[in-house]
Amino acid sequence: MIGSSEPLFSGLIDCHAHLEEIDPLLPALERAAAAGVATVIAAAVDAASARLALRLSERELPVAVLPCAGLHPTEIVPGELEAVAALIGENHSRLAAVGEIGLDYWRAKKDERKKGEQRRIFRFQLELARNFGLTAVIHSRGAWDDCRRLVGESGLQPVLFHWYSGPLDVLELILADGHYLSAAPAAAGSPPHRAALAAAPLSRIVVETDSPVPLKRGEERVPTEPADLPVSLRALAEIKNCRPEEAAASSTAAARRLFRFPTAQDR
Ligand SMILES: [Zn+2]
Repeated sequence: MIGSSEPLFSGLIDCHAHLEEIDPLLPALERAAAAGVATVIAAAVDAASARLALRLSERELPVAVLPCAGLHPTEIVPGELEAVAALIGENHSRLAAVGEIGLDYWRAKKDERKKGEQRRIFRFQLELARNFGLTAVIHSRGAWDDCRRLVGESGLQPVLFHWYSGPLDVLELILADGHYLSAAPAAAGSPPHRAALAAAPLSRIVVETDSPVPLKRGEERVPTEPADLPVSLRALAEIKNCRPEEAAASSTAAARRLFRFPTAQDR
């Protein structure tokens, strides 16, 4: 956990964390609860992480875990899409979203075949989400406009463009289509991420940690955890020139609309 936070918040929702990468997890979730986090939406990148998210959602833990299932564009290996699709089919009524899915053209570099395969797999998962009445959590690095276009073609709405740091003209179209953004801890420093959050209305912004993605603290890069959600919230409040409590209430309400609470909790 980065720094310490007074118990200013309660009932917070961390809309994106990779719990399979946090070890030991239980103390981290205890620290999250102490920081005011009530719910973590557990992202998945492949079949194994989706299975873990599903298992965690059944356990009594210091915070509620709502599972996602999806195949991340950088985790594409033969057979994985079939395994993930089967998990989505079997567990759709328990899922908060299909995610983390999308395109990563920075990783694909100039490999057009790879980009085409990413698009095919992304389209397929968007269709699954739509068929099962689920939202989706979108990774759009370096492929912001193609992600927007494919989401638009799928008819799925609204979705979460997680940690959006792309061009503002694409963002304008994303917002016009009714979608949401998330503020990550990088909102404390990253100029493109801050610019996106400044351009979007507060009512369309949820908060996340994307933990354990490391955050620069001075010269060090420290792994994040769900207890660092107040870092995202304070940065969002500073960008929006509002009180952190106001950013907290707004982002929690936005998350409940996007992930269709309380339905997701009551299932
Ligand atoms: Zn992620």
